[in-house]
Amino acid sequence: MDISIVVPLYNEEESLPHLAQWIDQVMQQNGYIYEVIMVDDGSKDNSWKIVEQLHRQNPCYKGIKFRRNYGKSAALNEGFAATKGDVVITMDADLQDSPEEIPEMRRMILEDGYDMVSGWKKKRYDSKLTKNLPSKLFNATTRMMSGIKLHDFNCGLKAYRKDVVKSIEVYGEMHRYIPVIAKWAGFSKIGEKVVQHRKREYGVTKFGMNRFVNGYLDLMSIMFISRFGKQPMHFFGLIGTLASLFGFVALLVVVILRLTGQIALTRSIWFYLSMFSAVLGVMLFLAGFLGELICRNSTTRNSYLIETRIED
Ligand code: UDP
Ligand code: MG
Repeated sequence: MDISIVVPLYNEEESLPHLAQWIDQVMQQNGYIYEVIMVDDGSKDNSWKIVEQLHRQNPCYKGIKFRRNYGKSAALNEGFAATKGDVVITMDADLQDSPEEIPEMRRMILEDGYDMVSGWKKKRYDSKLTKNLPSKLFNATTRMMSGIKLHDFNCGLKAYRKDVVKSIEVYGEMHRYIPVIAKWAGFSKIGEKVVQHRKREYGVTKFGMNRFVNGYLDLMSIMFISRFGKQPMHFFGLIGTLASLFGFVALLVVVILRLTGQIALTRSIWFYLSMFSAVLGVMLFLAGFLGELICRNSTTRNSYLIETRIED
């Protein structure tokens, strides 16, 4: 199997037939052996009927249907698990991404040795205020925090080497950070290709402004988990120690002040600082210990990535 195309979709009934036609055309022109995995993320319209119909017409089309709307990340994750192709493509169902980009993205993976190629919607056809501006901010922040030099982290059109999609887990709203997840899983060759983008013709966008409320929290989680996820004590223990040390110094000051009989204790800021730091220090250590206990019980505590192995 040359290519698996994963398409997450939520209420996209009008777009699907056009999308399928377009994909088939590109695949046949290039003579690929391919599959298209349509993941219906709990659509309330006729999307699933159309997926069934597509499968009847062409068995290359496969479908996964969620019981309710779980989100794009969950859809991608289940799609990834089902893929069989050497190269995996993800694209949106709304005809905003063009399948004509696929052959070049595939070539970059197979010949240029990229683990992952992310689309870059250099000229974007979305509403300026709600998408383009916040997007610039999002991309700049993610670029800075992750050190990955991409212009457009959240482009729906991406290509992956098979290993990548089989090694990462996408959940919650984390689809925006797949390049970051891939990098931390050890896939560091991440490329970019400028892709054509189009206006949404049918249906409406599924992501409003609310995505920015949680977006930066997700980035914090990813950065934290990738750095300290396996040893939370290294994070909490360090700041816990600093807090405790500071508390100890503050306590010394309090004792000295008391012994020299200068002021009433409760009127000294050092008194409050020492109490506050002691409580903070204990809490941080507690968080560290709890984190360690959770890691110890986690089945993925040793999930490092074996790239190849030679046996016997
Ligand atoms: N999508 C999904 N589940 C959701 C929201 C969106 O599967 O809960 C799909 C949607 O059908 C589309 C893709 O994710 O194929 C991108 O969504 P959309 O076009 O609404 O995002 P935008 O292009 O406006 O950022
Ligand atoms: Mg779209």
